[in-house]
Amino acid sequence: MSLLRPDLSDLPAYRRPPEPPTGLRLHMNEAASDWPEAAREALLARLRDLPFHLYPERQDELTERLRKRVGAPENGLLLGPSSGALLDLVATAGLSAGDAVAIPDPGFSLYPMLVRRNGGQVRAIPQGTGFPLEPWFSALDCRQIWLTLPNNPTGAWISPAALEPLLEAAAARPEPPLVVLDEAYAEFAPATHRLAVDRYPNLVLLRTFSKALASAAWRIGYLLGDPALVAKLAALQLPYSLTAASLEALDVALDFAAEFEPAVRALPDRRDRLSAALPAHQAAPSAANFLHLSPDPSPLLEAAGMKVRRLPGTDAARVTLGTETDMLRVASALGGSLPAPAPRPRR
Ligand code: PMP
Repeated sequence: MSLLRPDLSDLPAYRRPPEPPTGLRLHMNEAASDWPEAAREALLARLRDLPFHLYPERQDELTERLRKRVGAPENGLLLGPSSGALLDLVATAGLSAGDAVAIPDPGFSLYPMLVRRNGGQVRAIPQGTGFPLEPWFSALDCRQIWLTLPNNPTGAWISPAALEPLLEAAAARPEPPLVVLDEAYAEFAPATHRLAVDRYPNLVLLRTFSKALASAAWRIGYLLGDPALVAKLAALQLPYSLTAASLEALDVALDFAAEFEPAVRALPDRRDRLSAALPAHQAAPSAANFLHLSPDPSPLLEAAGMKVRRLPGTDAARVTLGTETDMLRVASALGGSLPAPAPRPRR
């Protein structure tokens, strides 16, 4: 007899790259630059004063702070130790054995593991390098539908207006599926789908501090949804799931949020210049902080000291957008030359 669930025995682990990393990190969709020095100092001062022997005390207070900032209704926001952990909670709370969960294919490689460890069955919805809506209509009978906008690893994105028919159709079912919209990369996209949450009680949105807020080390995510549903999810969350240090990091990241914005605002232009500058590689249209490039550029980029995410089973790789200097390196390794950014209009 196996000590663990036999249905999970063939489940591959999440493919974490080897540590310690060598080479330029363009494989994890992290922010290209660390926190500004003043923000680091502010957080270090907080950590110095933190009582290490006490359970964290600020989760409710900081949930409120973030809720007001994003304009969510009272009790409409749940903090979690990463958006991945919140997605796991949604699966735990919603799935019974054998329930189907629709996920994009290609999609975030963590999803199948989260579905299966919660007893669900994956229904892969083919998306190619775009985000066609049509195939999702065949998934309305699923218990949960996980959408990713922008999608990972392609960067594909559709607007709130374009998504509307699917949300409408899901909500109109006699037993609506729970729709989860993962917006890990939303800050790099032309718009957010946030307002849809106010209209569809069967929709939740997932966000993370790991990308645009340059805080991947601190493992902070949040979920937005109908307050009644959020309360039920909160009741199933492990207590004190964010560390006191992570809560302080969240607070300081919000204090300095305006300082992270220039990098986020500069990114789409750099992304579009790079995708147009590669003579031998095709970049899928991306609304995220990475590009899906084919044919697979990883042999050339790795030979030039850059780590990127190879996409198994395809002739493509995902390359995170780094700083201007990093992207000059990418362009040159791939035989292109990156034009200088257009001068910013003066205000
Ligand atoms: N969703 C998507 C689509 C992602 O690509 C990632 C990170 N790679 C996450 C969620 C996870 O973010 P977090 O760091 O909050 O777990």
